[in-house]
Amino acid sequence: MIIKDATKRGFDFIKENPQLLYTLFLVVVIPLAFIFTSEAFLSIAKKQNDLAEQNKVGFLHDSVGSYISSSEGTTTPEKLQTIIDDVSRKNSTLVGFYVIEGVRVDNVQTFNVIATLNANDVPLGVYTPDETTDILMRFALANPEYPLTRDYFKNTERTWKTITYFGSRNMYVVTDISMANSDATLAKNINNSYLVLLFVIILIILLLARHAKIVDYATLYKKLEEVDKMKDDFVSIAAHELRSPLTVIRGRLDMLKDMPNMTESSQHIISNIDDSAKDLNVLIGDILDVARLQEGRMSFNLVNISPKEILDEIFDQFNHVASAKNLKLIYQSIELPYINVDKTRFKQVMVNLVGNAIKYTKEGGVTVITKIVDDGKNLEIRVSDTGIGVSADAQKLLFSKFYRVKTEDTKNIIGTGLGLWITAEIVKKMNGTISVESIEGKGSDFIIKFKIAN
Ligand code: ADP
Repeated sequence: MIIKDATKRGFDFIKENPQLLYTLFLVVVIPLAFIFTSEAFLSIAKKQNDLAEQNKVGFLHDSVGSYISSSEGTTTPEKLQTIIDDVSRKNSTLVGFYVIEGVRVDNVQTFNVIATLNANDVPLGVYTPDETTDILMRFALANPEYPLTRDYFKNTERTWKTITYFGSRNMYVVTDISMANSDATLAKNINNSYLVLLFVIILIILLLARHAKIVDYATLYKKLEEVDKMKDDFVSIAAHELRSPLTVIRGRLDMLKDMPNMTESSQHIISNIDDSAKDLNVLIGDILDVARLQEGRMSFNLVNISPKEILDEIFDQFNHVASAKNLKLIYQSIELPYINVDKTRFKQVMVNLVGNAIKYTKEGGVTVITKIVDDGKNLEIRVSDTGIGVSADAQKLLFSKFYRVKTEDTKNIIGTGLGLWITAEIVKKMNGTISVESIEGKGSDFIIKFKIAN
């Protein structure tokens, strides 16, 4: 039960921190893969080595055998001894090489060594085979002229004994090949690869030490994201909750405005409160829009419409606002091609751009110019003003959330710095583009483009 709980907790922890999988991968998979490849490589090398030695032995036995078979009557122990001496000089791994003759005396099989490489080990004369040799000799007898091999340990060294029986002369050719050298080379390679493995493990530990920091940062980043989300949620809930009391306040203000016998100073105060309530309403609207856009909750009902109607409405809505500031609002109402947008959101974009243009212009005016561009593919709507303009540096940040240009000209203008971010997001969601061209002190052009609908 405890183990089950611990395993579950372990899995849950990894699920919450998937970056740990990377750690596990580094610690387990890489060394395992390394060991597996090294082992596979060494086993292939060992097999190849054994094969090469086997071929050599086979060739040796064939050569001696063909001499024995071809020179039937003339094979003498001296000649065989010369061959053994010659061959062994060229083969350093050959540690035993002797020829045994089978002799039958009174129906009893005996053996005589008639030539030998190492007389100390296997002396000339009567021969009594040891267990390995005896077994091999019996097999060789049953398979004449076919070299048979068996490995055994001679003083801890791996050795190959090969025996071929030549029936025509009743002779056995025996060789002992020492594999000590090739085994030592392989062992050295194994040691080297374990050294490399140790190096890889040290490297992994160093990487992990670094990775631990990254995991910390990732956890911290996740927490920050959570806190940021909590903050966004709080702001959006607060904005939502402020809406209802504000509506009541604005209703009461409207009632107050209509009250008879109001002194001029009271009217002034009420008008100020009304302005502030309107500003607060815009701020709440902006905050709620930001939340909707961030959470993908803002719905867009994209339909093909001609923007002419909405632009006309905007002109009517803002003409008196511009006049109140002694600004000219210029707009030529012409037939326009259809674009695929959400009607309400498109209006919101235009309200924001024209509203800003009037807000940030002290004299001159605002012109709304429509144009078909890009070889008839797009409709461009340009809101051009002769206002305070935006510096090149500020233009780069203009569409960021909460960004407001801080200059002498803007310090008394109230705003949230959310309007352009919302506008840009809405334009993007309706597959359009937005850009700005501006010269500080001369004016700004905000340009939106939408694909003309077929
Ligand atoms: P707000 O107007 O509420 O501050 P916006 O996101 O609409 O927020 O605009 C961000 C900033 O961009 C503004 O504070 C202002 O400095 C600058 N800006 C926007 N429109 C214009 C304009 N037509 N001319 C000059 N500056 C502008």
